[in-house]
This record gives sequence, structure tokens and C-alpha cells, in this order.
Amino acid sequence: MPSYRELLAQVKSEIEEIDPRDAAEALDSAVPPVLIDVREADEFEAGSIKGALHIPRGNLESRVEAAVPDRGTPVIISCQSGARSAFAAKALQDLGYEHVTSLAGGFSRWKQNGHPWAVPAVLDAERRRRYSRHILIPEVGEAGQLKLLSSKVLMIGAGGLGSPSGLYLAAAGVGTIGIIDEDIVDDSNLQRQILHTTDRVGMAKTESARVALTALNPDVEIVAYNERLTSANIDRILPGYDLVVDGTDNFPTRYLLNDASVKHDIPVVHASIFRFEGQMTVFKPHEGPCYRCLFPEPPPVDMAPSCAEGGVLGVLPGIMGTLQASEALKLLLGIGEPLVGRLLLVDALEASFHEVALRRDPGCPVCGDNAGEITYIDYEQFCAGPSRVAAH
Ligand SMILES: [Zn+2]
Repeated sequence: MPSYRELLAQVKSEIEEIDPRDAAEALDSAVPPVLIDVREADEFEAGSIKGALHIPRGNLESRVEAAVPDRGTPVIISCQSGARSAFAAKALQDLGYEHVTSLAGGFSRWKQNGHPWAVPAVLDAERRRRYSRHILIPEVGEAGQLKLLSSKVLMIGAGGLGSPSGLYLAAAGVGTIGIIDEDIVDDSNLQRQILHTTDRVGMAKTESARVALTALNPDVEIVAYNERLTSANIDRILPGYDLVVDGTDNFPTRYLLNDASVKHDIPVVHASIFRFEGQMTVFKPHEGPCYRCLFPEPPPVDMAPSCAEGGVLGVLPGIMGTLQASEALKLLLGIGEPLVGRLLLVDALEASFHEVALRRDPGCPVCGDNAGEITYIDYEQFCAGPSRVAAH
């Protein structure tokens, strides 16, 4: 039986080592190798080489194929002193990886030689538990969850659409949720606006939403805007958000939001609802059509149905708002095929989902090739008169 020292010497003779200076050079190159840190979580979290992929030694064989599918990819393995990484390099060689090296002297020598390292951003144990069902999805993982926690989403309206999208975005750990709504909770809202409750009737919707969302997830910071979105405040409110979830159903706000989101280059997850039918799409500036590519000018006031109260089956905004949350999470994570250039039509009575293609208009007054200065449209100008509509 060989001793540990003999076994280590044996393994080291069967693999290649790379010294920290050559490793630093390779990692700095245009096509860097994949660096895998095989230490335990507490060692990795105390400090690691920037950009290192963390796969603890015990999980290496089971997880490396998903992380590095191409066995021809150059891989450097690091640990604390260069011993565990030697065994890990041997294991990867045995799995068929063709260009594996072990960092000689490990992270300790890397640090001693003055190469750069950092304390990686990681989730603490409590957050790992809370978001474990996200972390288990390879497309999300810990990195994706950290991304969500640092994301900022602006919700226009804390009503029927904003209720489910707000709840699911908060549950998902979207770190900052801005909510703009100037209404107060009314008992006629409760048939569909599940953010609010009977005992919060009379409370500002932004406050009621804050109560509900922070009770669900204390990780979420709520930024409340107890006002109506106007041409005067939109340039103050919009910048800094990663995307907007549009829960309004009035034409002027839709045009205002569209024009400002193109100006500030912020994607809008759009949905609208009427009775049993819903529509949704994602307006991603310059990558797909904007709202004005479809409807260049607002309809005349008396033709605009949303300037009057419309009925809606209470669960419909629940379906559409949930789909909006799904699109928002995809956009934040950069995964999947967002609903850009596609209009999804949902009919609750038929239980049907259809899709139509939407095209960008090169002559669009806002996002077109020759678009000029954008002049915002305001609610008051547009829906003048007594019939003003709350957000759904
Ligand atoms: Zn356009």
C-alpha cells in the first residue's frame, strides 16, 4: 500500500502542473482556459482567483460535464496547496479531458506571488435555502440568483397585472422592485388584485404592496412612487431600472412609457387584458418592434376603450401578470427566448394561446431609422374628461 505522499507523487507524475505566473498569463489571454477551484465552499468564499468556477472536489466528476461540455477545452484546476487539484486533474484526465493542468502550489502560492484574487459574491446559507429551487436549475444557479438579487424592476401599477408579477418577482428574489401607483386600495379591486387585502382597503396601493411583498421576502427592497407616471417624472423614475413590467391599461401611459423606454433603452414587458382576453409581448428597444411600430399614433379619445372602465375575469390578470413575471425573470437572467417581436394572445374562455409575429417599422416615429426628438404624451391631455381609469 503506498503512503499518501507516495500516492501524491505518483499522481503528480501523471499530470501536468502549471506555475502561477504561467496560469495568470493564460487566464489573461484572449481565449482563457476554464479555471476550476475544487476547494470546499468555506475556503472558496474566503477568497479565490477571479473568474474561477467553484466545483468542490467531491462533486467534480458529477458536475464537470455540464460545466465544461467540450473535453478539448483547456482546464486549470486549483485548490489550496496543489494536492487536491493534482488528484482532480488526474480524475479529469481519466474522464477524457485533453488539456488539464493543476495549479502548482495552489491558491496559497498564487496569493504569495501577488496575483489578483477576490472574495467572491456568494449566497449565505439562509439564501441558499430560500432560493434552493432556483439554484438547482443549471440555467439559474447561484450566479443567476445573485444576478436577480442585484436586479431592479419597475412595476407600472400595483393592480391586477402588478399583483401576480410583483408577488412572483419578490418571491424570486429580485432585489429592488419599484412600484408606481397613485391609487388607494378599493374593495372593488379585490376581485383580482391579490396583492391587497380587505383590511388594507383605503391604504395607498404602493404601501399595501410594500406590506405584502416584504412580508413574502425581506430580501426585496421596495421603492414606492405614490404618483402617476407623467412626462414630468418619467425621466427621473425610469433610468437605473433593468426593465419595466407594464401593468397599466390606458393608452396615454402606454405611449409615454414606450417613448421613454426607447429613449432610455429599457425593455418593457407589456400586457393588456379585457374581459376574457389577454395580450402580451416584450418591447426590447431596437431589437424588436416598439409599441409605436404597431400603433404609431394614439387613437382618438372616444375610440380608446381603456378610457372607460372595462370588465375582466378576475383570474385573467393573474395569468397574464404571471407570464409577465416569467418574461421578466428570463430577461434579467439572459436565458430563453423572450417574447420580442411576438404577440401572445390568450383567450381564457377557449383556454387557447396563440402567437402572431410583430415587425419593427423602420419608419417608426420613435425607434425608426430616422426617428427625431421624442415628445412625450400626457394622460391629462389625452383622457380629458370625467372618465379616468385606474390601472387594472
Ligand atoms: Zn418603434
